[in-house]
Amino acid sequence: MSDNLSKMLPGDRIKITTDTCTVGFWDKAKEHKLTACQCASCGRFRMPPRPFCPDCQSKEINWPELPGTATVYSFAVCHKSPFSGEELLYIPAVLDIDGAPGARLTSNLVGFDPDQVEIGMKVKVDWYSITEDWVLPVFVPA
Ligand SMILES: [Zn+2]
Repeated sequence: MSDNLSKMLPGDRIKITTDTCTVGFWDKAKEHKLTACQCASCGRFRMPPRPFCPDCQSKEINWPELPGTATVYSFAVCHKSPFSGEELLYIPAVLDIDGAPGARLTSNLVGFDPDQVEIGMKVKVDWYSITEDWVLPVFVPA
């Protein structure tokens, strides 16, 4: 049974790079807190983070702590590692993040039977340590 559940990609092959407008997200992830880029002037969320708010052009950013739950917007079931080509069941997904209307996060669904995954289902964040002390948010059954 557990062999049929979706896995995480190998952490040693994932490389995270940051810049001034994304580092806030990854710093919060190290604290196991899910956040999203929010305009500090008008409140609009934007993901992926960008330097300017598309509504008011402000450069000021908030990183509010969010509930850590999300809704599946889209997903794909993959059967081979993108790194080695070996058999690996993993599910990349685009998620609507609770508490951050309009913000979507691309992540992975871990611990799912692929036949049970549906658009609109609720998931919750979990944390996966990878190389160089980075922590990656993944999503597990809610
Ligand atoms: Zn704004």
